[in-house]
Amino acid sequence: MAGSMKSIEVKRSKINPIRLISGGVDKRSRIHSRLRKAGIPRRQIEGKSFIIKKQRLVMERDQMKEKIVTFLGEQDNSQMMPGKADCMKVGGKVVQKRILNDYLYNLHAKYLAENPNETVSLTVFNRARPVNFLLANFATRKTCLCPQHQNLALKLKALHNIGMKNSKNPDSFIKAYSDEEIKKMLEDLEVQKIKYREWARVEVTKSDGTSTKATRVIPREMKKDEFIAMFMEKIEKMRGHVIRVKAQFDAVRELKKKLPFGHTALWLDFAESHECSECEEISSGYWGEKCKVTLLPAVMYYRTEPDGELKHKAFNIISPDHKNHNAATVYAFLKVLIPKMKAVNPVTALHYISDSPTSQFRNKTIFYILANHGDLLGVELVSWIWLEAGHGKGPGDGIGGTSKRMADQAVRSGKVEIRDAEDFYNWASNEDSKITYLYVSKEECDLAAEELRPLPLKTVSGTMKIHAAVSVKPGTIAVRDTSCYCDKCFTNGVFSLECEGWKQHTLVAEPSKPSVSASAPVNEEVPEVHNSYEKGDFVAATYDDEWYIGEITAVDHEEDEFQVKFMEKSTGRGVPSFKWKEGSTCWVPLENVMAKVKAPTGKRLQKLSKEDYENIMKLWAN
Ligand SMILES: [Zn+2]
Ligand SMILES: [Zn+2]
Repeated sequence: MAGSMKSIEVKRSKINPIRLISGGVDKRSRIHSRLRKAGIPRRQIEGKSFIIKKQRLVMERDQMKEKIVTFLGEQDNSQMMPGKADCMKVGGKVVQKRILNDYLYNLHAKYLAENPNETVSLTVFNRARPVNFLLANFATRKTCLCPQHQNLALKLKALHNIGMKNSKNPDSFIKAYSDEEIKKMLEDLEVQKIKYREWARVEVTKSDGTSTKATRVIPREMKKDEFIAMFMEKIEKMRGHVIRVKAQFDAVRELKKKLPFGHTALWLDFAESHECSECEEISSGYWGEKCKVTLLPAVMYYRTEPDGELKHKAFNIISPDHKNHNAATVYAFLKVLIPKMKAVNPVTALHYISDSPTSQFRNKTIFYILANHGDLLGVELVSWIWLEAGHGKGPGDGIGGTSKRMADQAVRSGKVEIRDAEDFYNWASNEDSKITYLYVSKEECDLAAEELRPLPLKTVSGTMKIHAAVSVKPGTIAVRDTSCYCDKCFTNGVFSLECEGWKQHTLVAEPSKPSVSASAPVNEEVPEVHNSYEKGDFVAATYDDEWYIGEITAVDHEEDEFQVKFMEKSTGRGVPSFKWKEGSTCWVPLENVMAKVKAPTGKRLQKLSKEDYENIMKLWAN
């Protein structure tokens, strides 16, 4: 950490803010910086006339800096480091260190997405970062960041330790080297086996003897050639992942910039427990154990007149905890939220923005709701931007966290007693706050689930890859791997979807007809998607952005989740072979199950039937 701090210091003195305003005064700025270090305020150094002339600029710059600092300090963008030792002295004051949740350039892209009317360069953005805000380091254990980035960073660290020249930053690494160069570097390593660590979702035993799912760092070891094959696949995935992180933030910015009067963008974020162990421990306690509350913060963006300023309004939906927030919960919440939004400003079209967890926001139920949004929720024209997984926490995460903290303080001070969601709602809605609180009862959630249950929902193939959807006509949506609100796809509030890659799906409630039909492109045959699986079935399922074969060992019908004992897949090119491996059982949601397959055959290494393999490749390609 010391190394990176030093390099920031160097960069800071090189690009002095005074220099930016007055235009190149190297020597003077050096003297100034020395004087400032000695504690003499800048105003005094500069002289009055200079300040008066530049006052407006300085004020604007300070305002922008303050805005960036506020943004970086929000819960979705950085975390307070928890330890007592995690503090440092800044200007004589002791402050707690915070660690950024993402690389600065991704946070910069996100800042621009949230503030579409601002133009701030990455350099200025970086300079606004206070020194106690440490840069994200994906290889350390103390952070809750994108698992895909973390796992590649851990592998890079392992490779670095055995002598490979590389960068710890996966983004810089893939930018610096081609696939061939990376492969050559790996082949040149003089080792037989490679040891590394990775984050994995595993069953852990709690102190009371019951088991639960948790994310832990697990040590692994692999033969060099197997490692190379696996690593090259991860590199390929990372290239796509990095492109999507940027593409989706850019889409949000583009959408907000051209959002017509009457259209509303809605950023949804469940405020919930984080995924890594450190945060699980932090977020447990009062809100985890004693008081179970579900919070869905939502921020709406709108214009009150054509070409007017973009405004926003925050809501926080409170509901009793339902163990797992699924699509039916989201539907119940929208039923309450949309009329409230309409009371703020007309809603003629609705553009959702969210993270992409398949259990809540990106699944067959949500696709169905989008296709039939006019009937179900009264707004016909809709679109959805799913931010790339691991980089999709939005402004709502901070709203949720703040509400919980404030409630926590109120409870501790003895001012109020909060035992359940209703108490929380009563307390919150009486607080003087800009946020509008809404309450959704368990009965309303159950009713919404009942309403959706009889619908012949079918999985849209390639759900894991979809990051964009647009309603085309009642019953039909178009989906794409990344969002696009360019002028060819979205002009004057109308979608024409002329860019490549949009695919249409018809999802209507007519049980007699197949409810999923891919209408474009016509010549492409989409394999049938099964919808029910039983214990003992062999299935192809996706896990951690990869597909595997496994046997279903338990079914949770309530949550639509399957416990799958996975086989290990060979990592070479061509038709893979499989073998059983200890401890590779985990729960996967229905959306991750691709298809039923015949049990693989063979002795130690087993193979799939040719038919099953081709079917899976088609589903995977979709
Ligand atoms: Zn990532
Ligand atoms: Zn486009």
